[in-house]
Amino acid sequence: MPFSHHSHSGQFCAHAKDSLESCILQAISKNLRIFCLTEHMPRSDPRDFYPEEVEMGITPQDLTDGFAEFYTTAVALRDKYKEEITILVGFEVDYIRPSMLAEIKQLRETYAFDMFIGSVHHVDEIAIDFSEELFNRAISAVEAVDSGADIAEAYNMGTKIERFPEIQVTELKGEERLFEVYFDTQYIMLTALKPPVIGHFDLIRLKCNDYKVNFRTMKSVWEKIVRNVKFISEYGGMVEINSAATRKGWEYPYPGPDILQLMKEEGIRFVLSDDSHGIAQVAFGYEKSLAYLEKQGIEEVWYYEWIGWERGIEDGILRPEDRYLPKISPQCIEAKRAIVKDLRGIVPA
Ligand SMILES: [Zn+2]
Ligand SMILES: [Zn+2]
Repeated sequence: MPFSHHSHSGQFCAHAKDSLESCILQAISKNLRIFCLTEHMPRSDPRDFYPEEVEMGITPQDLTDGFAEFYTTAVALRDKYKEEITILVGFEVDYIRPSMLAEIKQLRETYAFDMFIGSVHHVDEIAIDFSEELFNRAISAVEAVDSGADIAEAYNMGTKIERFPEIQVTELKGEERLFEVYFDTQYIMLTALKPPVIGHFDLIRLKCNDYKVNFRTMKSVWEKIVRNVKFISEYGGMVEINSAATRKGWEYPYPGPDILQLMKEEGIRFVLSDDSHGIAQVAFGYEKSLAYLEKQGIEEVWYYEWIGWERGIEDGILRPEDRYLPKISPQCIEAKRAIVKDLRGIVPA
């Protein structure tokens, strides 16, 4: 499966490994044709730092500087390896509280990006994919914010948690309530940004009781999922089949079968992603992702390419000698279709 629309490297992400260039070389050696470099956006509030960043004593300025360096390096590598692989430069969104919107806007004004990934990793400011402990902490935070009481659980590192004002309180509690707020947060992110690619749509399942939970059995959660999927379908967003789930112990990639079938019904286009955080994860789990798609009756996936350029799925890389790289911008790329069964066996395991 020769495309990844979502990746990180240890050079610019404290919880990843390996240099950006070595990840690209690995992608080339794995026969990837498209590799999107989508580093996490810099976060300006130390409350939102990943544990590794806290440990390393990193400051918001370090993250801003690091991101600038990521961008410059990514653009240079995009050019250096243009004969071997299509590299698209982007970033991955964090959508933690209302002020993120201005930060993302600023980031997009500062840099030109080919694309970006719209993700939600936090609910009521608490990371939901890091550990069971934090997942449970997120449940208590949601319940505390719902209750409106001035209690410890409604605070994040000494500051009161700031919820997106669009989120309505409901009767639900526990995990099911967390699912609701996650999909509401995702909807707020989707409507604000209309991301070209939606990252790990059902990441909220990662640390929950049973990742195979069928959301169709939870009426209000399912309604929110349907709303989100219909919205993505309307504006033409693409959803990643993200194989990171399989390296975290799942039998299949994100999103799970209940949501995948709904997306299929709604005519959503899918792209392939490894969400790699280092060489070892480049193109990881792709045979599993392809088998899953085939089993679920999904026959085609989509991928980005520079407008007017062709690279063979299997081997041939066609690069007219006289062509220069297009400018970095979403206007310079187009989504193309590939047939799932044609992709089997291309990427070495
Ligand atoms: Zn990451
Ligand atoms: Zn992510």
